[in-house]
Amino acid sequence: MNRETLEVDVLIVGAGPAGLSAALRLAQIQKAKGGDPLSIAVIEKAPEAGRHQLSGALLDPSTLTELVPDYASKGAPLGTPVDNDNIYFLTQESKFRLPITPPPFQNHGNHIISLSQFTKWLASQVEAEGIDVFWGFPGQHVLYDRPPDVYENPPRIIGVRTGDRGLNKEGKPKGAFEPGADIHAKVTIFADGVRGHLTKELYRDLQIGLGAEPAQYAIGIKELWDVPKGRLKPGTVIHTLGYPLREEEFGGSWLYAMGDGRISIGLVVGLEYHDPLFDPHAAFQHFKRHPFIRGILDGGQIVRYGAKAVPEGGWNTQPQLFLDGALIVGDAANFVNSTRLKGIHLAMRSGMLAAESAFDAVRGGDTSASVLKSYKTRVDTSAIKTELYPMRNVHQAFGHGLIAGSAYAGIAMFTNGRLLPDLGGHPGHREMRMIESYYGLAKRDILVPSNAAPIDRKLTFDKVTGAHYSGTHHDEDQPVHLLVHTEVCHTICGSEYGHPCVKFCPANVYEMVDDGMGGRRLQINASNCVHCKTCDIMDPYGVITWVAPEGGEGPSYDGM
Ligand SMILES: Cc1cc2nc3c(=O)[nH]c(=O)nc-3n(C[C@H](O)[C@H](O)[C@H](O)COP(=O)(O)OP(=O)(O)OC[C@H]3O[C@@H](n4cnc5c(N)ncnc54)[C@H](O)[C@@H]3O)c2cc1C
Repeated sequence: MNRETLEVDVLIVGAGPAGLSAALRLAQIQKAKGGDPLSIAVIEKAPEAGRHQLSGALLDPSTLTELVPDYASKGAPLGTPVDNDNIYFLTQESKFRLPITPPPFQNHGNHIISLSQFTKWLASQVEAEGIDVFWGFPGQHVLYDRPPDVYENPPRIIGVRTGDRGLNKEGKPKGAFEPGADIHAKVTIFADGVRGHLTKELYRDLQIGLGAEPAQYAIGIKELWDVPKGRLKPGTVIHTLGYPLREEEFGGSWLYAMGDGRISIGLVVGLEYHDPLFDPHAAFQHFKRHPFIRGILDGGQIVRYGAKAVPEGGWNTQPQLFLDGALIVGDAANFVNSTRLKGIHLAMRSGMLAAESAFDAVRGGDTSASVLKSYKTRVDTSAIKTELYPMRNVHQAFGHGLIAGSAYAGIAMFTNGRLLPDLGGHPGHREMRMIESYYGLAKRDILVPSNAAPIDRKLTFDKVTGAHYSGTHHDEDQPVHLLVHTEVCHTICGSEYGHPCVKFCPANVYEMVDDGMGGRRLQINASNCVHCKTCDIMDPYGVITWVAPEGGEGPSYDGM
């Protein structure tokens, strides 16, 4: 097969806040330093800017003010400034307002934004600098200069192969087949987001998680609603703890009033819950049925739905950030502050720092790990460490229950993390850093009943309807992009875990159906997939691998 090969100086995989900030910073440094311009390319699996971007989102503008000081005159869509913060503890029927708002929940100075719109704007700034962003081009595999042999002689990363187009279900070329291209780069910056599948290849091939604590994740399920104007003052921020989550589930909700009656509402649940039949999507429906929340949404209309994982493990879970020929930034490097549920400004900052190191290395003619290591030094002396290090164990502490977690978080906050020991990973996590079961000891015979919620299609919706509101589209005649070893599903998973994929997937991708022979078989509705990555994280046997589908396909998160 003839593959096109392209040569660039710097290749950036992923046009989210991290990747676009890296691109913009490269352009800025280039302008400031002059000399021969570097060739820079960005590849992104979404068909256009912002389409695969889902977040809360409260933007801490601290990094933006450094990256684009004149952002206001350049029309940055900063939405609505936060006007008031509220935090409640919910029981099934009631709510209690916390008398003080803990520092991580104080949001004055932050803005309620649509990350999708913000990313669109950031992309326009990058393109205005003459940098090519290739929309609808997923990176499919990492390219090495020789087969990976991490122990003897680690290979150099020389770029990325993009996905083929025009293959049918069986993987055979259809009429308009186009093989993916090999993009060779002196430095590849992996900005492929939470559980990025190329970064996952680096974990597998180069053991970049060795020495770090196991990654930890949450799933965030989000809806946009239009409610009668005046129901919530624009700029109102509400966070809740407690119901519908139980003591053993860590998480909470948000409601952000964006203006014009538009509300961003969502629930985040730590993915180390022990009950394999717990269903985060159902928990979100219960949450909306709470009298307090129902009162806010009543008479309103759902506009969009989506879900995405969040890397919540914090500072100690960052993988090796620099390699021969590569750097890792943003969510792919687990740079999220889970106590504040904020990662956009950290992703942007890590992108900027990676750009500075990549630029120096390319100009200096040496892009080996020993030179690119300067990125790690930059991170360690930056606001990323100042913010993440003191909170480094907070998510892990919540793995020991709400009370233990709250106490730990409180002490961490007041002592700036100094008095607390490192906790290590959650006891349920296995040794392999990326392929691990989160179900601890739970087996089917000790499960609590499923948390299914009533669906009325006004306030609560089933997963298929949710997938419809996510705007997801995938051509059905293409290779399934969820690589599943189904023999496990058809043999032991039912008796051991009760098929948790049916529960944890927020878009009904996994269904157990009649096999016509008196048994049940797994049906994969890949076209519903909202690219949240939860299945890749939560399958207890490590037999589900998410890879990018054909370029341009997936959810359509306009306004999210
Ligand atoms: C529910 C939820 C609520 C959140 N709330 C907030 C909040 O209120 N405030 C806040 O600051 N942060 C919040 N965050 C976190 C924040 O959204 C992330 O930290 C931030 O978006 C990370 O940016 P990124 O560029 O690293 O990754 P992403 O934003 O995930 O961008 C990665 C990009 O890479 C693309 N990509 C992935 N794989 C490939 C591939 N193989 N080839 C090409 N392209 C690829 C993706 O399509 C995507 O566009 C929230 C996250 C979630 C999920």
